[in-house]
Amino acid sequence: MDLSQMTACQLRDLISTGQTSCVEIMHSVLAQIDRIESEIQAFISIRDRKQLLREADAIDQRRIRGERLGPLTGLPVAVKDSISTQDLVTTCASKMLENYVPSYDATVVARLRAADAVILGKTNMDEFSMGSSTENSAFQITRNPHNLDYAPGGTSGGSAAAIAADETVLAIGGDTGGSVRQPAAFCGVVGVKPTYGRVSRYGLIAYGSSLDQIGVFGKDTTDAALLLSVIAGHDQLDSTSLLTDVPDYSNELKTTDPLRIGVPQEYFGEGLDRDVRSAIDRAIQLLSADGHEILDVSLPHTSFALPTYYIIASAEASSNLARYDGCQYGFRADDFDSLIDMMCKTRTQGFGDEVKRRILLGTYVLSSGYYDAFYLKASKVRRLIHEDFKNAFGLCDVLIHPISPAPPFKLGEKSSDPLVMYLNDIYSVVSNLTGLPAASIPCGWTSGSLPIGVQLVAPWHEELLLFRAAYRLESLLTNIGVTRNAPD
Ligand code: GLN
Repeated sequence: MDLSQMTACQLRDLISTGQTSCVEIMHSVLAQIDRIESEIQAFISIRDRKQLLREADAIDQRRIRGERLGPLTGLPVAVKDSISTQDLVTTCASKMLENYVPSYDATVVARLRAADAVILGKTNMDEFSMGSSTENSAFQITRNPHNLDYAPGGTSGGSAAAIAADETVLAIGGDTGGSVRQPAAFCGVVGVKPTYGRVSRYGLIAYGSSLDQIGVFGKDTTDAALLLSVIAGHDQLDSTSLLTDVPDYSNELKTTDPLRIGVPQEYFGEGLDRDVRSAIDRAIQLLSADGHEILDVSLPHTSFALPTYYIIASAEASSNLARYDGCQYGFRADDFDSLIDMMCKTRTQGFGDEVKRRILLGTYVLSSGYYDAFYLKASKVRRLIHEDFKNAFGLCDVLIHPISPAPPFKLGEKSSDPLVMYLNDIYSVVSNLTGLPAASIPCGWTSGSLPIGVQLVAPWHEELLLFRAAYRLESLLTNIGVTRNAPD
Protein backbone atom coordinates (compact mmCIF):
# COMPACT_ATOMS: atom_id res chain seq x y z
CA MET A 1 0.00 0.00 0.00
CA ASP A 2 1.17 3.52 -0.79
CA LEU A 3 2.04 5.45 2.38
CA SER A 4 -0.48 8.18 1.51
CA GLN A 5 -3.30 5.62 1.76
CA MET A 6 -2.47 4.58 5.31
CA THR A 7 -4.07 5.80 8.51
CA ALA A 8 -2.23 8.04 10.96
CA CYS A 9 -1.99 5.20 13.47
CA GLN A 10 -0.51 2.81 10.89
CA LEU A 11 2.03 5.44 9.88
CA ARG A 12 2.95 6.16 13.49
CA ASP A 13 3.73 2.46 13.98
CA LEU A 14 5.86 2.37 10.83
CA ILE A 15 7.76 5.47 11.97
CA SER A 16 8.35 4.14 15.46
CA THR A 17 9.79 0.87 14.15
CA GLY A 18 11.98 2.71 11.65
CA GLN A 19 10.17 1.25 8.61
CA THR A 20 9.45 4.68 7.20
CA SER A 21 10.29 8.30 7.88
CA CYS A 22 8.38 11.56 8.07
CA VAL A 23 10.16 12.69 4.90
CA GLU A 24 8.98 9.58 3.03
CA ILE A 25 5.42 10.15 4.20
CA MET A 26 5.57 13.79 3.13
CA HIS A 27 6.94 12.77 -0.28
CA SER A 28 4.12 10.30 -0.79
CA VAL A 29 1.41 12.81 0.18
CA LEU A 30 2.95 15.47 -2.10
CA ALA A 31 3.13 12.95 -4.96
CA GLN A 32 -0.56 12.17 -4.47
CA ILE A 33 -1.31 15.92 -4.49
CA ASP A 34 0.58 16.19 -7.80
CA ARG A 35 -1.46 13.35 -9.22
CA ILE A 36 -4.92 14.43 -8.18
CA GLU A 37 -5.21 17.95 -6.75
CA SER A 38 -5.81 19.62 -10.11
CA GLU A 39 -9.04 17.59 -10.32
CA ILE A 40 -10.14 17.66 -6.68
CA GLN A 41 -9.13 21.24 -5.75
CA ALA A 42 -9.33 20.51 -2.04
CA PHE A 43 -6.73 23.11 -1.04
CA ILE A 44 -6.85 26.88 -1.26
CA SER A 45 -3.15 26.95 -0.44
CA ILE A 46 -0.43 24.36 0.01
CA ARG A 47 2.75 25.33 1.83
CA ASP A 48 6.09 25.55 0.10
CA ARG A 49 7.34 22.01 -0.59
CA LYS A 50 10.91 22.59 0.44
CA GLN A 51 9.75 23.96 3.75
CA LEU A 52 7.39 21.01 4.30
CA LEU A 53 10.20 18.54 3.62
CA ARG A 54 12.58 20.50 5.85
CA GLU A 55 10.08 20.36 8.70
CA ALA A 56 9.54 16.63 8.19
CA ASP A 57 13.30 16.09 8.09
CA ALA A 58 13.83 18.08 11.29
CA ILE A 59 11.36 15.73 13.03
CA ASP A 60 13.17 12.68 11.60
CA GLN A 61 16.46 14.03 12.93
CA ARG A 62 14.99 14.49 16.39
CA ARG A 63 13.72 10.91 16.29
CA ILE A 64 17.13 9.62 15.24
CA ARG A 65 18.70 11.51 18.14
CA GLY A 66 16.30 9.65 20.42
CA GLU A 67 14.26 12.70 21.40
CA ARG A 68 10.71 12.15 22.55
CA LEU A 69 8.26 13.17 19.83
CA GLY A 70 4.70 14.42 20.09
CA PRO A 71 1.78 12.11 19.24
CA LEU A 72 1.50 13.32 15.64
CA THR A 73 5.17 12.54 14.84
CA GLY A 74 5.59 14.50 11.62
CA LEU A 75 2.24 13.57 10.06
CA PRO A 76 0.72 16.02 7.56
CA VAL A 77 -2.46 17.77 8.70
CA ALA A 78 -4.68 19.90 6.45
CA VAL A 79 -6.44 22.83 8.12
CA LYS A 80 -9.70 24.47 7.03
CA ASP A 81 -9.11 27.98 5.79
CA SER A 82 -11.32 29.48 8.50
CA ILE A 83 -8.73 28.62 11.14
CA SER A 84 -5.93 31.14 11.70
CA THR A 85 -2.39 30.11 10.87
CA GLN A 86 0.49 32.45 11.63
CA ASP A 87 2.23 33.78 8.49
CA LEU A 88 -0.04 31.65 6.29
CA VAL A 89 -2.87 33.23 4.30
CA THR A 90 -6.26 32.50 5.90
CA THR A 91 -9.05 33.48 3.52
CA CYS A 92 -12.24 31.84 4.85
CA ALA A 93 -12.81 31.31 1.10
CA SER A 94 -13.85 34.96 0.84
CA LYS A 95 -12.67 37.83 -1.28
CA MET A 96 -12.98 39.81 1.95
CA LEU A 97 -9.96 38.01 3.45
CA GLU A 98 -8.19 37.04 0.22
CA ASN A 99 -4.86 38.48 1.35
CA TYR A 100 -5.26 38.19 5.12
CA VAL A 101 -2.21 36.76 6.88
CA PRO A 102 -2.85 36.19 10.60
CA SER A 103 -0.14 37.25 13.02
CA TYR A 104 -0.93 34.34 15.34
CA ASP A 105 -1.90 30.66 15.34
CA ALA A 106 -5.32 29.46 16.44
CA THR A 107 -4.98 27.41 19.62
CA VAL A 108 -5.70 24.19 17.69
CA VAL A 109 -2.91 24.98 15.24
CA ALA A 110 -0.49 25.73 18.07
CA ARG A 111 -1.44 22.37 19.62
CA LEU A 112 -0.95 20.55 16.32
CA ARG A 113 2.53 22.04 15.99
CA ALA A 114 3.33 21.19 19.61
CA ALA A 115 2.28 17.58 18.86
CA ASP A 116 4.83 17.55 15.98
CA ALA A 117 2.27 17.61 13.17
CA VAL A 118 3.26 19.33 9.93
CA ILE A 119 0.66 21.82 8.70
CA LEU A 120 0.29 20.91 5.04
CA GLY A 121 -1.98 23.65 3.76
CA LYS A 122 -5.37 25.32 4.01
CA THR A 123 -8.49 23.68 2.65
CA ASN A 124 -11.38 24.98 0.60
CA MET A 125 -14.75 25.68 2.19
CA ASP A 126 -17.97 27.62 1.73
CA GLU A 127 -17.35 31.32 2.23
CA PHE A 128 -17.40 32.10 5.97
CA SER A 129 -18.62 28.53 6.57
CA MET A 130 -22.06 29.19 5.09
CA GLY A 131 -23.37 26.43 2.84
CA SER A 132 -23.55 22.65 2.58
CA SER A 133 -21.57 21.82 -0.54
CA THR A 134 -18.37 23.95 -0.64
CA GLU A 135 -19.81 25.57 -3.79
CA ASN A 136 -19.94 28.97 -2.04
CA SER A 137 -16.16 29.36 -2.05
CA ALA A 138 -15.08 32.60 -3.74
CA PHE A 139 -12.14 30.80 -5.34
CA GLN A 140 -12.77 27.26 -6.58
CA ILE A 141 -15.07 24.23 -6.69
CA THR A 142 -13.93 21.17 -4.76
CA ARG A 143 -15.01 17.85 -6.23
CA ASN A 144 -16.00 14.63 -4.49
CA PRO A 145 -13.09 12.17 -4.94
CA HIS A 146 -15.55 9.29 -5.35
CA ASN A 147 -17.20 10.94 -8.36
CA LEU A 148 -15.96 14.25 -9.70
CA ASP A 149 -19.45 15.34 -10.78
CA TYR A 150 -20.61 15.33 -7.17
CA ALA A 151 -20.22 17.79 -4.29
CA PRO A 152 -17.93 16.85 -1.42
CA GLY A 153 -20.45 18.30 1.05
CA GLY A 154 -19.75 21.37 3.09
CA THR A 155 -18.69 23.56 4.48
CA SER A 156 -15.43 21.75 5.34
CA GLY A 157 -15.57 19.98 1.97
CA GLY A 158 -11.89 20.64 1.21
CA SER A 159 -10.74 18.89 4.39
CA ALA A 160 -13.00 15.87 3.82
CA ALA A 161 -12.05 15.56 0.14
CA ALA A 162 -8.33 15.89 0.94
CA ILE A 163 -8.52 12.90 3.30
CA ALA A 164 -10.69 10.82 0.98
CA ALA A 165 -8.28 11.50 -1.92
CA ASP A 166 -5.25 10.59 0.26
CA GLU A 167 -3.87 14.11 -0.17
CA THR A 168 -3.40 14.37 3.60
CA VAL A 169 -3.35 11.99 6.53
CA LEU A 170 -5.45 14.06 8.93
CA ALA A 171 -7.54 17.21 8.70
CA ILE A 172 -9.28 19.80 10.82
CA GLY A 173 -12.60 21.50 10.06
CA GLY A 174 -15.22 23.70 11.63
CA ASP A 175 -18.80 22.62 12.41
CA THR A 176 -21.55 25.18 13.04
CA GLY A 177 -24.46 23.11 11.75
CA GLY A 178 -22.91 19.94 10.38
CA SER A 179 -19.91 21.15 8.40
CA VAL A 180 -17.56 18.43 9.61
CA ARG A 181 -20.04 15.54 9.77
CA GLN A 182 -21.88 16.06 6.47
CA PRO A 183 -18.77 16.34 4.23
CA ALA A 184 -17.27 13.38 6.12
CA ALA A 185 -20.38 11.38 5.17
CA PHE A 186 -20.27 12.60 1.56
CA CYS A 187 -16.58 11.70 1.17
CA GLY A 188 -16.64 8.40 3.10
CA VAL A 189 -14.37 9.42 5.99
CA VAL A 190 -14.86 9.84 9.74
CA GLY A 191 -15.78 13.31 11.04
CA VAL A 192 -16.32 14.29 14.67
CA LYS A 193 -17.75 17.43 16.22
CA PRO A 194 -16.98 17.51 19.95
CA THR A 195 -19.06 18.99 22.78
CA TYR A 196 -19.34 22.78 22.57
CA GLY A 197 -16.37 24.14 24.51
CA ARG A 198 -14.27 20.97 24.27
CA VAL A 199 -11.97 22.48 21.64
CA SER A 200 -10.84 26.10 21.81
CA ARG A 201 -12.38 28.45 19.26
CA TYR A 202 -9.55 30.94 19.65
CA GLY A 203 -8.41 31.76 16.12
CA LEU A 204 -11.44 30.20 14.42
CA ILE A 205 -13.03 32.89 12.25
CA ALA A 206 -16.46 33.29 13.83
CA TYR A 207 -19.73 32.46 12.09
CA GLY A 208 -22.27 31.60 14.83
CA SER A 209 -20.37 31.80 18.08
CA SER A 210 -22.83 29.81 20.20
CA LEU A 211 -22.81 27.01 17.60
CA ASP A 212 -19.24 26.95 16.19
CA GLN A 213 -16.94 24.07 17.16
CA ILE A 214 -13.72 22.88 15.57
CA GLY A 215 -13.85 19.20 14.66
CA VAL A 216 -11.63 16.47 13.25
CA PHE A 217 -11.42 14.25 10.18
CA GLY A 218 -9.64 10.91 9.89
CA LYS A 219 -9.60 7.86 7.67
CA ASP A 220 -11.05 5.92 10.57
CA THR A 221 -12.37 6.38 14.11
CA THR A 222 -9.00 5.76 15.77
CA ASP A 223 -7.36 8.52 13.74
CA ALA A 224 -10.17 10.95 14.57
CA ALA A 225 -9.82 10.03 18.26
CA LEU A 226 -6.07 10.59 18.14
CA LEU A 227 -6.46 14.00 16.53
CA LEU A 228 -9.16 15.15 18.93
CA SER A 229 -7.00 14.16 21.92
CA VAL A 230 -4.32 16.51 20.60
CA ILE A 231 -6.47 19.59 20.00
CA ALA A 232 -9.02 19.27 22.85
CA GLY A 233 -8.72 20.71 26.32
CA HIS A 234 -9.07 23.91 28.27
CA ASP A 235 -7.76 27.15 26.80
CA GLN A 236 -7.64 30.40 28.73
CA LEU A 237 -7.98 32.30 25.47
CA ASP A 238 -11.53 31.03 24.91
CA SER A 239 -13.99 32.00 27.65
CA THR A 240 -16.40 29.22 26.61
CA SER A 241 -13.70 26.55 26.89
CA LEU A 242 -14.53 23.59 29.16
CA LEU A 243 -12.40 22.94 32.24
CA THR A 244 -12.71 19.14 32.23
CA ASP A 245 -9.72 16.91 31.52
CA VAL A 246 -9.30 15.17 28.17
CA PRO A 247 -8.41 11.47 28.13
CA ASP A 248 -6.38 9.97 25.29
CA TYR A 249 -9.44 8.87 23.35
CA SER A 250 -7.49 6.72 20.89
CA ASN A 251 -6.06 4.49 23.64
CA GLU A 252 -9.38 3.69 25.23
CA LEU A 253 -11.59 2.85 22.29
CA LYS A 254 -11.92 -0.85 22.62
CA THR A 255 -14.66 -1.95 24.95
CA THR A 256 -17.36 -4.49 24.47
CA ASP A 257 -19.75 -3.10 27.09
CA PRO A 258 -23.27 -3.31 25.73
CA LEU A 259 -24.86 0.06 25.04
CA ARG A 260 -28.43 1.30 24.99
CA ILE A 261 -28.77 2.83 21.55
CA GLY A 262 -31.67 5.19 20.89
CA VAL A 263 -33.28 5.56 17.47
CA PRO A 264 -35.13 8.90 17.25
CA GLN A 265 -38.34 8.12 15.41
CA GLU A 266 -38.75 11.63 14.02
CA TYR A 267 -35.51 11.21 12.02
CA PHE A 268 -36.71 8.33 9.93
CA GLY A 269 -39.68 9.98 8.24
CA GLU A 270 -40.72 10.38 4.63
CA GLY A 271 -37.94 12.63 3.39
CA LEU A 272 -35.22 10.04 3.99
CA ASP A 273 -33.58 8.55 0.89
CA ARG A 274 -34.02 4.77 0.42
CA ASP A 275 -30.31 3.92 0.10
CA VAL A 276 -29.49 5.98 3.20
CA ARG A 277 -32.30 4.37 5.15
CA SER A 278 -31.29 0.82 4.29
CA ALA A 279 -27.59 1.45 5.09
CA ILE A 280 -28.57 2.85 8.50
CA ASP A 281 -31.06 0.05 9.16
CA ARG A 282 -28.26 -2.42 8.49
CA ALA A 283 -25.97 -0.58 10.94
CA ILE A 284 -28.70 -0.76 13.59
CA GLN A 285 -29.20 -4.48 12.95
CA LEU A 286 -25.46 -5.11 13.29
CA LEU A 287 -25.41 -3.31 16.63
CA SER A 288 -28.42 -5.26 17.82
CA ALA A 289 -26.85 -8.59 16.81
CA ASP A 290 -23.73 -7.50 18.70
CA GLY A 291 -25.73 -7.42 21.92
CA HIS A 292 -26.61 -3.74 22.22
CA GLU A 293 -30.11 -2.76 23.21
CA ILE A 294 -31.91 -0.80 20.50
CA LEU A 295 -34.78 1.39 21.63
CA ASP A 296 -37.10 3.87 20.00
CA VAL A 297 -36.90 7.37 21.42
CA SER A 298 -38.72 10.56 20.60
CA LEU A 299 -37.37 14.07 20.03
CA PRO A 300 -40.69 15.91 19.78
CA HIS A 301 -39.36 19.33 18.74
CA THR A 302 -37.42 18.00 15.75
CA SER A 303 -39.50 19.84 13.15
CA PHE A 304 -38.53 23.20 14.69
CA ALA A 305 -34.78 22.58 14.63
CA LEU A 306 -33.99 23.81 11.14
CA PRO A 307 -35.81 27.19 11.33
CA THR A 308 -34.44 27.68 14.85
CA TYR A 309 -30.92 27.05 13.62
CA TYR A 310 -31.19 29.36 10.61
CA ILE A 311 -32.57 32.20 12.77
CA ILE A 312 -29.89 31.89 15.45
CA ALA A 313 -26.99 31.20 13.07
CA SER A 314 -27.90 34.13 10.80
CA ALA A 315 -28.40 36.47 13.77
CA GLU A 316 -24.96 35.63 15.15
CA ALA A 317 -23.42 35.80 11.69
CA SER A 318 -24.80 39.27 11.02
CA SER A 319 -23.23 40.47 14.25
CA ASN A 320 -19.90 38.63 13.77
CA LEU A 321 -19.48 39.79 10.19
CA ALA A 322 -20.04 43.46 11.05
CA ARG A 323 -16.27 43.68 11.60
CA TYR A 324 -15.55 43.40 7.86
CA ASP A 325 -16.13 47.07 7.13
CA GLY A 326 -13.01 47.97 5.16
CA CYS A 327 -11.58 49.90 8.12
CA GLN A 328 -9.70 47.37 10.16
CA TYR A 329 -8.40 44.61 7.95
CA GLY A 330 -9.22 42.68 4.83
CA PHE A 331 -10.59 43.91 1.54
CA ARG A 332 -11.47 47.57 0.92
CA ALA A 333 -13.24 48.81 -2.24
CA ASP A 334 -11.16 51.12 -4.43
CA ASP A 335 -13.49 53.98 -5.33
CA PHE A 336 -15.67 55.68 -2.76
CA ASP A 337 -16.64 59.18 -1.78
CA SER A 338 -17.42 58.89 1.93
CA LEU A 339 -16.93 56.55 4.87
CA ILE A 340 -20.44 55.09 4.50
CA ASP A 341 -19.95 54.70 0.74
CA MET A 342 -16.64 52.89 1.39
CA MET A 343 -18.29 50.47 3.83
CA CYS A 344 -21.23 49.80 1.49
CA LYS A 345 -19.00 49.15 -1.52
CA THR A 346 -16.55 47.06 0.49
CA ARG A 347 -19.27 44.78 1.80
CA THR A 348 -21.12 44.64 -1.53
CA GLN A 349 -17.99 43.65 -3.44
CA GLY A 350 -16.26 41.61 -0.71
CA PHE A 351 -19.06 39.20 0.30
CA GLY A 352 -20.68 36.56 -1.89
CA ASP A 353 -24.45 36.09 -2.29
CA GLU A 354 -24.98 33.49 0.43
CA VAL A 355 -23.12 35.54 3.03
CA LYS A 356 -25.17 38.61 2.12
CA ARG A 357 -28.36 36.55 2.40
CA ARG A 358 -27.41 35.46 5.94
CA ILE A 359 -26.48 39.02 6.97
CA LEU A 360 -29.83 40.32 5.71
CA LEU A 361 -31.75 37.54 7.43
CA GLY A 362 -29.78 37.95 10.66
CA THR A 363 -30.17 41.71 10.75
CA TYR A 364 -33.90 41.31 10.15
CA VAL A 365 -34.48 38.81 12.99
CA LEU A 366 -32.50 41.00 15.40
CA SER A 367 -34.14 44.29 14.47
CA SER A 368 -36.46 45.96 16.97
CA GLY A 369 -40.01 44.90 16.27
CA TYR A 370 -38.92 41.46 15.03
CA TYR A 371 -36.48 40.43 17.76
CA ASP A 372 -39.20 39.00 20.04
CA ALA A 373 -41.01 37.23 17.22
CA PHE A 374 -37.92 35.56 15.77
CA TYR A 375 -34.65 35.61 17.70
CA LEU A 376 -36.16 35.45 21.19
CA LYS A 377 -38.63 32.77 20.16
CA ALA A 378 -35.88 30.74 18.47
CA SER A 379 -33.81 30.93 21.65
CA LYS A 380 -36.73 29.53 23.63
CA VAL A 381 -37.31 26.72 21.15
CA ARG A 382 -33.58 25.95 21.32
CA ARG A 383 -34.10 25.29 25.03
CA LEU A 384 -36.98 22.90 24.29
CA ILE A 385 -34.81 20.99 21.80
CA HIS A 386 -32.14 20.78 24.48
CA GLU A 387 -34.71 19.27 26.87
CA ASP A 388 -35.71 16.68 24.23
CA PHE A 389 -32.13 15.41 24.18
CA LYS A 390 -31.80 15.49 27.94
CA ASN A 391 -34.89 13.30 28.19
CA ALA A 392 -33.66 10.93 25.47
CA PHE A 393 -30.32 10.50 27.22
CA GLY A 394 -32.23 9.52 30.35
CA LEU A 395 -33.23 6.39 28.41
CA CYS A 396 -30.22 5.58 26.24
CA ASP A 397 -26.42 5.98 26.07
CA VAL A 398 -26.05 7.13 22.47
CA LEU A 399 -28.34 8.04 19.59
CA ILE A 400 -28.04 6.78 16.04
CA HIS A 401 -29.59 8.56 13.06
CA PRO A 402 -28.84 9.90 9.56
CA ILE A 403 -26.41 12.74 8.99
CA SER A 404 -28.13 14.05 5.90
CA PRO A 405 -31.44 13.03 4.32
CA ALA A 406 -29.84 12.02 1.01
CA PRO A 407 -26.49 10.79 -0.30
CA PRO A 408 -24.06 13.17 -2.09
CA PHE A 409 -25.75 15.35 -4.71
CA LYS A 410 -24.37 16.63 -8.00
CA LEU A 411 -22.45 19.89 -8.18
CA GLY A 412 -24.91 22.60 -9.19
CA GLU A 413 -27.94 20.49 -8.27
CA LYS A 414 -28.97 22.53 -5.23
CA SER A 415 -26.92 25.71 -5.48
CA SER A 416 -29.61 27.75 -7.20
CA ASP A 417 -32.17 27.23 -4.43
CA PRO A 418 -30.98 28.18 -0.93
CA LEU A 419 -33.98 26.59 0.80
CA VAL A 420 -33.35 23.22 -0.83
CA MET A 421 -29.72 23.51 0.31
CA TYR A 422 -30.78 24.40 3.89
CA LEU A 423 -33.03 21.32 4.06
CA ASN A 424 -29.96 19.18 3.68
CA ASP A 425 -28.94 20.20 7.23
CA ILE A 426 -32.06 18.90 8.92
CA TYR A 427 -30.31 16.08 10.85
CA SER A 428 -27.06 17.85 11.64
CA VAL A 429 -27.95 21.25 13.12
CA VAL A 430 -29.43 19.83 16.33
CA SER A 431 -26.04 18.81 17.73
CA ASN A 432 -24.91 22.42 17.38
CA LEU A 433 -28.10 23.88 18.87
CA THR A 434 -27.63 21.57 21.85
CA GLY A 435 -23.80 21.53 21.94
CA LEU A 436 -23.74 17.71 21.90
CA PRO A 437 -20.79 15.69 20.59
CA ALA A 438 -21.57 13.82 17.36
CA ALA A 439 -19.72 11.69 14.84
CA SER A 440 -20.27 10.70 11.25
CA ILE A 441 -19.12 7.19 10.35
CA PRO A 442 -19.13 5.68 6.84
CA CYS A 443 -21.76 2.92 6.80
CA GLY A 444 -22.29 1.90 3.20
CA TRP A 445 -22.54 2.85 -0.45
CA THR A 446 -25.29 3.91 -2.79
CA SER A 447 -26.01 1.86 -5.89
CA GLY A 448 -24.00 4.54 -7.72
CA SER A 449 -20.91 3.92 -5.53
CA LEU A 450 -21.19 7.07 -3.44
CA PRO A 451 -20.53 6.93 0.30
CA ILE A 452 -23.27 6.97 2.96
CA GLY A 453 -22.62 8.08 6.53
CA VAL A 454 -24.43 7.45 9.80
CA GLN A 455 -24.45 9.77 12.77
CA LEU A 456 -23.87 8.85 16.40
CA VAL A 457 -24.62 11.39 19.14
CA ALA A 458 -23.49 11.08 22.78
CA PRO A 459 -24.41 13.08 25.91
CA TRP A 460 -22.52 16.27 26.74
CA HIS A 461 -18.80 15.67 27.52
CA GLU A 462 -19.04 11.99 26.58
CA GLU A 463 -16.65 11.97 23.61
CA LEU A 464 -15.06 8.78 24.88
CA LEU A 465 -18.40 6.99 24.81
CA LEU A 466 -19.02 8.43 21.33
CA PHE A 467 -15.69 7.11 20.06
CA ARG A 468 -16.26 3.71 21.65
CA ALA A 469 -19.67 3.35 19.99
CA ALA A 470 -18.23 4.56 16.68
CA TYR A 471 -15.27 2.19 16.90
CA ARG A 472 -17.58 -0.74 17.64
CA LEU A 473 -19.85 0.07 14.71
CA GLU A 474 -16.87 0.60 12.42
CA SER A 475 -15.47 -2.84 13.40
CA LEU A 476 -18.84 -4.52 12.79
CA LEU A 477 -19.10 -2.89 9.36
CA THR A 478 -15.51 -3.84 8.48
CA ASN A 479 -16.32 -7.45 9.41
CA ILE A 480 -19.05 -7.57 6.78
CA GLY A 481 -16.82 -5.93 4.17
CA VAL A 482 -18.01 -2.32 4.36
CA THR A 483 -14.79 -0.31 4.17
CA ARG A 484 -13.43 3.00 2.96
CA ASN A 485 -13.18 1.66 -0.57
CA ALA A 486 -16.22 1.48 -2.81
CA PRO A 487 -17.33 -2.06 -3.68
CA ASP A 488 -16.39 -3.08 -7.24
N1 GLN B 1 -24.99 24.24 6.32
C1 GLN B 1 -25.04 25.00 7.54
C2 GLN B 1 -25.03 26.48 7.29
O1 GLN B 1 -24.85 26.87 6.16
C3 GLN B 1 -23.93 24.58 8.46
C4 GLN B 1 -22.64 25.17 8.11
C5 GLN B 1 -21.55 24.88 9.10
O2 GLN B 1 -21.60 23.93 9.87
N2 GLN B 1 -20.56 25.73 9.08
O3 GLN B 1 -25.20 27.24 8.17
